[in-house]
Amino acid sequence: MLKRPNKYTWLCPLCSGKKYIYYKFNERTYYQCEKCAGISLDESDHLSPEEEMKRYLEHNNDVKDIKYQNFVKPIILAICNDFSRHNKGLDYGAGTGPVITKILTDNSYNIKTYDPYFHNFPDYLKKKYDYIACCEVIENFYRPYHEFRKLKNLLNKNGALYCQTDLYKDNIDFKNWYYKNDPTHVFFYTEKTVCWIKERFKFKEGIVKNRLITFRN
Ligand SMILES: [Zn+2]
Repeated sequence: MLKRPNKYTWLCPLCSGKKYIYYKFNERTYYQCEKCAGISLDESDHLSPEEEMKRYLEHNNDVKDIKYQNFVKPIILAICNDFSRHNKGLDYGAGTGPVITKILTDNSYNIKTYDPYFHNFPDYLKKKYDYIACCEVIENFYRPYHEFRKLKNLLNKNGALYCQTDLYKDNIDFKNWYYKNDPTHVFFYTEKTVCWIKERFKFKEGIVKNRLITFRN
């Protein structure tokens, strides 16, 4: 018998479309949505906030680590290409090592850091920004619809939301996909999911380039 903790289990947490069991792995259940093609982990398999925070602390990202800096380079280059030091930015979900904040601040950019666990400054969510960086964050969203609505509302007109994540493609063998093995990764995006977000939240563009998704307001 399939476990069914509550009535929402069978609805996609992003678009509320119907979702079907996609894969079962180590007693974890993943679903794919028939509407947006997003893949979500069963809610009952989500970590508790305490467990989740512990996992993030284990990541222990060092902002001076060159490998880590290179990893976030695409998002940094995109921001520097599109915006200047006069624009306001937000590093959303920055985690223990806010590397984007560090690199941009070192270059005199004006960027604030927010993270519900490690930089919890709710006042920063009451302002508007020209650009928002979400680097390896959106795959951790328990409530992706709620999060994208919040991010959209934080953006100024002509602003941009940069999301770095590993998109799921049809040629990937989900069973052997490293990205799903992190227990904090609960929602995976496909190109179709990106299109759904672009349409639903009325972004002008939703462009995918490797790991970088750019939504323009
Ligand atoms: Zn969906």
